[in-house]
Amino acid sequence: MTDDLRTQLRAAIASADGFSEDSLELHDYQEHADAVLAIVQPELDRLRTMYDVVSERENDLLKERDALLLHPEHHATTTAEQPLCAECGHPKDEHEDADEPVSVGLCKTCDADGDEDNAWHNYEPPAETA
Ligand SMILES: [Zn+2]
Ligand SMILES: [Zn+2]
Repeated sequence: MTDDLRTQLRAAIASADGFSEDSLELHDYQEHADAVLAIVQPELDRLRTMYDVVSERENDLLKERDALLLHPEHHATTTAEQPLCAECGHPKDEHEDADEPVSVGLCKTCDADGDEDNAWHNYEPPAETA
């Protein structure tokens, strides 16, 4: 991969100087290609690392999704294990985030219960017991 890139860089630099790739001697533009590659390579490595992290996260999410599709009851368990809102006592996941920083979110369970007056509030973490 790197060698391909190096070849492409070398050809591009040569062509910017008006030479075709075929007309190059073996030693021509090798140092130029190395100089460009030295700048580009760390950036490529950084992107590769980011890509790996994202791919890993995507894999985890796909596995989680498959697990939920296969075992929907698992979701109920995890929701039940969530910390409960200090405001209304419903699990964290039932609370939607506010659209804007100045407004408040909605507790879907309160809303479904018809408790409209109290449904609109941001999730409050429970007081630390430990
Ligand atoms: Zn709440
Ligand atoms: Zn609630």
